[in-house]
Amino acid sequence: MDLKRLHNTLFGGLLWVVCLTQLSCRKDVPAASPDRFVDYLYEHTTTLELIIAYEQGADPYTSFGGFDNWRITDYNLNQLLSAQNIPVKVPHVLDSMKSLGVLAQNNYTRQNIIDIAADVQRYSNKDSVKGIVLLFLNGYLIKDGVIETRVLGLTIDGSAVVAIFKPVISASSSKEAEKNMVEQSTVTHEIGHVLGLVNNGVPTTSPHHDQANGAHCSNASCVMYWKNGAGEVAQYIDRFTRGQDITLFGEQCMADIKAK
Ligand SMILES: [Zn+2]
Ligand SMILES: [Zn+2]
Repeated sequence: MDLKRLHNTLFGGLLWVVCLTQLSCRKDVPAASPDRFVDYLYEHTTTLELIIAYEQGADPYTSFGGFDNWRITDYNLNQLLSAQNIPVKVPHVLDSMKSLGVLAQNNYTRQNIIDIAADVQRYSNKDSVKGIVLLFLNGYLIKDGVIETRVLGLTIDGSAVVAIFKPVISASSSKEAEKNMVEQSTVTHEIGHVLGLVNNGVPTTSPHHDQANGAHCSNASCVMYWKNGAGEVAQYIDRFTRGQDITLFGEQCMADIKAK
């Protein structure tokens, strides 16, 4: 199946008019850790594996309109890291992801997420094969004791851990196609943070760091633009209804990775 067909099926003919404004990517507070994943990533990595685990009721969307959703994350991560000769293994079906059953809690603190991810991780991340853990949770982030009902995803700073809060994805739109796209773009965005974007482990090679909004990109067409990870994706997705490919990272972010 070619990507153009996938793109046309996912995005063609749809009108993206929802306003998803207040949703957000909640970049973690940087930990003063000497052991940052990104500092080991670009040296001696032969394979990077995405390890996906999901709580019952929070399973990732795998297909829409008969097409394979995970081609989007797969294509974009491999395109991004090809400049570093790091192939990324991305599971596409639930059978190659891990079921966590029903977890004890309804919502999750940063520490809960770190603990769950530690049980799922298969690599020390000090060797040539490394793993990023992606958790799909059937609940919300708890931050400073407050339940964050509009946070789509969280990257634990300095680590190879991403949490996706499925109820926020599910509520992001009334249209199935949009929910599917929001999920894939959120995953790609959060993993972009794990990989050191923007200017958070991988130095910028051009002035595109939107410092006011954290480790984000000032290019509104790039998946690392803060409102794209943030879920205000209507305008961003619109590009795909007119465009010809499913490239999510902008040229500046790709150039940074290449130069790292
Ligand atoms: Zn972000
Ligand atoms: Zn960018």
